[in-house]
Amino acid sequence: MNDERQRAPRRADGAAGPGGGRSAGPDLAISARDLVRAFEDGRVRALDGVSFDVERGETLAVMGPSGSGKTTLLNLLGALDRPTSGRLAIAGEEVVLGGHDQDLDRLRAREIGFIFQLHNLIPTLSARENVELPMMGLRVPRAARRRRSEELLGRVGLADRADFSVKKLSGGERQRVAVARALANRPHLLLGDEPTGSLDSRTGTEVIDLLLELRREHGLTIVLVTHDPGVASRMARIVELRDGRVSGDRRV
Ligand code: ADP
Ligand code: MG
Repeated sequence: MNDERQRAPRRADGAAGPGGGRSAGPDLAISARDLVRAFEDGRVRALDGVSFDVERGETLAVMGPSGSGKTTLLNLLGALDRPTSGRLAIAGEEVVLGGHDQDLDRLRAREIGFIFQLHNLIPTLSARENVELPMMGLRVPRAARRRRSEELLGRVGLADRADFSVKKLSGGERQRVAVARALANRPHLLLGDEPTGSLDSRTGTEVIDLLLELRREHGLTIVLVTHDPGVASRMARIVELRDGRVSGDRRV
């Protein structure tokens, strides 16, 4: 019974693999069921029963008015926060409601890359050092860190800026460093909360172009919160939130 309910929202062409019927098989990047996130002793329900699946390699825009729960949702998907109730699996791993923070940290470090609106880079460090930081968290040896940061900075077109401190870079360059940093640990899931929100539209378009190229190369799953219909239309699917609930879910 329960399995049927879990499978129901999946796409007809998203054939289940050999383990078909699992609630959160490895072919799903995200499986969310009845997610609630309450604040203020339950008086504020930022998310009020959100369910959806995202397949690996899918691209998804999350839209909705201010206060509709977009950031709250992204923080759950990014293992930065835990739901109050409901079920959430990220890359096939269940987020346990009352679990240990180390488990979330580990899941986040291994599976998830996060790009924020204001990049969250450390301005006094170089581009390279910023990209290497998440790898230090996973104790990647120094030589491997160096190789990988060079490769990633080359990939985002910043090979010649690797040793610049971030505060000397333009807004678009910083956001490209943030993309490189988000990919440092080879995540399966790339999340962005208004990743183009502080960029002019041409630079924003370039960042989205880059993300979609990286998806083609690495089979990444991409979930972006955006207010920009132009950015949303570049994703294959748009989920709309209103008052903490899904008010629309369509493929474009
Ligand atoms: P959005 O990103 O769509 O603008 P948010 O997810 O930031 O919306 O917020 C959704 C709702 O939850 C808002 O009403 C907001 O005030 C409330 N909220 C979010 N985080 C908290 C918090 N830490 N404490 C109390 N209320 C919160
Ligand atoms: Mg927000």
